[in-house]
Amino acid sequence: MFKMAQRVLAASFRQAGLAKRSFSSSKTTFQKAQAVASSASGSSGSDDIVYGPEHLQLKESLRKIIERDINPHVEEWEQAKNFPAHKVFKLLGDNGFLGVTKPKEYGGLDLDYSYACAVGEELGYINCGGVPMAIGVQTDMATPALAKFGSDYLKREFLAPSISGDAVACLGVSEVGSGSDVASIQTRASRKGDDLIINGGKMWTTNGTQADWMCCLAITSEGAPHRNKSLICLPMKTPGVTVAKKIQKIGMHSSDTAQIFFEDVRVPRSHIIGEEGEGFTYQMIQFQEERIFAAVGALAPIERMIEETIKYTRERKAFGQSVLDNQVVHFTLGELATELEMLRSAVYRTVALYVKGNDVTKMASMCKLKAGRLLREASDKCLQFWGGMGYTDEVLISRLYRDMRLLSIGGGADEVMLSIICKFMRTMPKPVKK
Ligand SMILES: Cc1cc2nc3c(=O)[nH]c(=O)nc-3n(C[C@H](O)[C@H](O)[C@H](O)COP(=O)(O)OP(=O)(O)OC[C@H]3O[C@@H](n4cnc5c(N)ncnc54)[C@H](O)[C@@H]3O)c2cc1C
Repeated sequence: MFKMAQRVLAASFRQAGLAKRSFSSSKTTFQKAQAVASSASGSSGSDDIVYGPEHLQLKESLRKIIERDINPHVEEWEQAKNFPAHKVFKLLGDNGFLGVTKPKEYGGLDLDYSYACAVGEELGYINCGGVPMAIGVQTDMATPALAKFGSDYLKREFLAPSISGDAVACLGVSEVGSGSDVASIQTRASRKGDDLIINGGKMWTTNGTQADWMCCLAITSEGAPHRNKSLICLPMKTPGVTVAKKIQKIGMHSSDTAQIFFEDVRVPRSHIIGEEGEGFTYQMIQFQEERIFAAVGALAPIERMIEETIKYTRERKAFGQSVLDNQVVHFTLGELATELEMLRSAVYRTVALYVKGNDVTKMASMCKLKAGRLLREASDKCLQFWGGMGYTDEVLISRLYRDMRLLSIGGGADEVMLSIICKFMRTMPKPVKK
């Protein structure tokens, strides 16, 4: 595994313009990588719970791309309320970042989830929430079920181009009338010979205006709501698919969010991922990676909120002293840094358990719950210490305050996470029989 990781990472670094750094001088490179990771995370080495030298090099390589090719354009994308998904994904795909855990036969690196964790964490250094979210949809939300359960044909058609960055994916689960209650979706794919005819619509579809294909949850048979649905690979250019609306949002401006209608959309039955009728179960499995990704993605933004606030309040003077010198300010930041380390430990532990093959539904739900809440607390408390500047569009803290509010809602609201946790704790009351 280690040698293979070296080979693929070396290829990735070459493409990222880091060819001069060789693995033979790994000690120096490792030290450099560790310095980057530890100064950035403020976690003084705690990264080694799940990260070794290759993870740190992967992070460093991605950081170069973010600083060179992504962050310089973020302001423009935020203004335009869109980012060029095909261009950005191609760049990431060429460097191996879209298929870290995906099978080699389809262009992936076949590494374990700790490497996806490293990538997900590093994406938090992009200067907005929208672009990391769009990338996460491609890597951890729309493709895990396809990679685990899809046929060879579907993987060649949809997974391979998503890994190489030639295709943009989106996930169609939520609908106008069904968000938290996934089992209640109404989109229906009726059988007609060897085809499916899809009618209905999806709501809140990230990447929806740009996507080439959708991993779409639809009802495919009668019967119990947990057994009557399938996940379907749906090419977005199929006649009958309409992007009805681009939704305007309070944050995540770089990311496009669409409402989509389906009217007599015909796809072959062979586009069903895995077993027909297992879509709900597959989606619940797929949610595990979505929720770990969401929690991992919170680490760098929280750390950046704290670090940027320390810098600003140290410089900013009021009543003859730095704002930072008020005990309420530095104590608050100390508390937040402590909470961040608690979250980091829980996230890394969850990743470690997941890598060992455990069902981490409970832990992933706890991590997502805590990450959403801490993002809200940290962004609100830090923004306060910026005074009027915090209320402008000119500073990162205000963008993170807006963008990161989504975490407690999207991918399962806080209350849905609590319901899952309580089910595992066996404290959820049973539904009353009428
Ligand atoms: C920017 C953005 C991007 C998104 N991207 C995607 C995407 O790419 N693909 C996709 O399929 N979906 C996507 N979503 C949808 C997202 O996952 C849903 O918004 C989320 O699951 C909540 O569903 P809802 O909005 O319908 O809220 P509702 O289900 O109407 O719930 C409203 C509120 O009710 C409360 N609530 C719900 N259930 C319970 C309960 N059991 N107990 C107590 N309180 C409860 C919660 O506070 C919840 O926030 C996105 C959403 C947004 C805003």
